[in-house]
Amino acid sequence: MISVIMILTTSILFYYKKEVFSMYPRVLINLKEIEENARKVVQMAEKRGIEIVGVTKVTLGDPRFAEALKRAGIKILGESRLKNVLRMKKAGIEGPFMLLRLPMMSELVEDVKHFDYIMVSDPKVARMVEELSKETGRNVKIIYMIDVGDLREGVWYEKAVEEISQCNPSSISGIGTNFGCYGGIIPTKEKFEMLLSIKEKLEKEHGFNIEIVSGGNTPTLLALESGEIPEGVNQLRIGEAIALGRDITNNRVIDWLSQDTFIVEAEVIEVKEKPSIPVGRRGLDVFGRKVEFVDRGIRRRAICALGEQDIDSRGLIPVDKGVEVLHASSDHIVLDVTEYGDVKVGDVFRFRMTYSCLLKAMTSPFVEKRYEPSI
Ligand SMILES: *Cc1c(COP(=O)(O)O)cnc(C)c1O
Repeated sequence: MISVIMILTTSILFYYKKEVFSMYPRVLINLKEIEENARKVVQMAEKRGIEIVGVTKVTLGDPRFAEALKRAGIKILGESRLKNVLRMKKAGIEGPFMLLRLPMMSELVEDVKHFDYIMVSDPKVARMVEELSKETGRNVKIIYMIDVGDLREGVWYEKAVEEISQCNPSSISGIGTNFGCYGGIIPTKEKFEMLLSIKEKLEKEHGFNIEIVSGGNTPTLLALESGEIPEGVNQLRIGEAIALGRDITNNRVIDWLSQDTFIVEAEVIEVKEKPSIPVGRRGLDVFGRKVEFVDRGIRRRAICALGEQDIDSRGLIPVDKGVEVLHASSDHIVLDVTEYGDVKVGDVFRFRMTYSCLLKAMTSPFVEKRYEPSI
């Protein structure tokens, strides 16, 4: 009864704001579990003298997510986008903020105003950051990115010393690298040692003082657990592990972290028994994908009002046993619910998410965001 009244009042409020009221799909954001994940990561890293940068980008710089990280003892927040930092600042979140993506020239002036750490991979950009930083009286620290094999940003490791030594030694505060994101490269001891030997050469031969060695992102946690990170690496930038308790690069669920941090809910709009193979001559699906079907006879299928515009269907993990994600188009997701039991139109299913799925859910304006003390 109370919920009916709540729905009615909210609908009336939305009606007067001339917006359409929709309750689903929505993401439930469990701030307690997120805080707890962050705290565990911080504590594990602390034992080895490593500081954690808490990465907010998958949430689009959600201020309440950022607050949860801060409560867990994280100081530096990592962001790839200026707009997300402005969102956090507007909500009263204080930095320091680290720019995780190489800056765009068109935004550099603003970046220097709002970020406290900036990653670069070009001596000219380093010089510009240094000059702008001086002009504006800000003390922006520069992290020079090195590519140790993953093939995304950074100077190729074999050319790193030569290139970085073109910078003013006092302008470079740290070096960093990234793993997994592009080439799927897994961090191993050897990769960290490459970074440390570059640091040593810069310091001994070129007069640099490299305070920060930023060793990488979520896949480095496995190396941290197994003691493979050598002394000298003193910073890790962690997003996925804190947000989801997962590590896609190592293809694992991190068993000492919670996966009940973000849950997406979708409403059933059709339930029907149908064959498991489409009937007729077959082409590609709407996204140009060739879909494989297995003939399992007649199955009970439920369609939910959720689609590729809101989520990545390959990264949707049903919370309930007996529910299987079959396929999705832009606005429909088809589930096989034969093994689940009774389902009717209006029911709601819950899903955990992989990183790519969460990124889309947080970005979709169609997905409501709701903060829960517990899910
Ligand atoms: C996104 C990003 C991170 C965080 O990565 P996760 O795998 O989510 O932990 C760290 N560093 C850089 C440069 C990034 O772009």
